[in-house]
Amino acid sequence: MHNNDENLKIISIDDIEKSSNKTLFYEYDGEITELEDCKIKAELELKSLGEYIEVKGTIEGKIKLECDRCLSKYDYDLDFTLDEMYAKNSLYEEYGQELELKSGQFVTDLNGAKEIDIYDLLYQSVILQLPNKKVCGINCNEGLFVSDDEMKIPDERMEVFKNIKIE
Ligand SMILES: [Zn+2]
Repeated sequence: MHNNDENLKIISIDDIEKSSNKTLFYEYDGEITELEDCKIKAELELKSLGEYIEVKGTIEGKIKLECDRCLSKYDYDLDFTLDEMYAKNSLYEEYGQELELKSGQFVTDLNGAKEIDIYDLLYQSVILQLPNKKVCGINCNEGLFVSDDEMKIPDERMEVFKNIKIE
């Protein structure tokens, strides 16, 4: 588990509801230990909208990546915004755990859970930001060129991002 620093990893829905304007401000400043040299600073706003919890904010930081061409390690800057919705109770049980609410926004079903794993959200969102082709710089021409097919590394961690569109 990730108990090695003071950053909160889990946020209870109760705490969000009890905050003024039902909005909880959350900061994370630390490592994502599952990723190499990944250090981020996240400033998020968790807001209760009745049946939904909206999580919005910005994430900045860096991560160490390995160049696909020359295999050397390089720093990659992270700077992106997060906009996630959680449904407190299962909305569409017959579908998967995520579904599209409106264009570009996905809802994660909490299935009645009383807390949000904010660390996992940060971890998953960083993974989504990583480039498909990792190249250390525009001047890198070492080694063999890697084809697109070889770049598609199956990653079971991405399974949670399989989205189901409801027509
Ligand atoms: Zn390189």
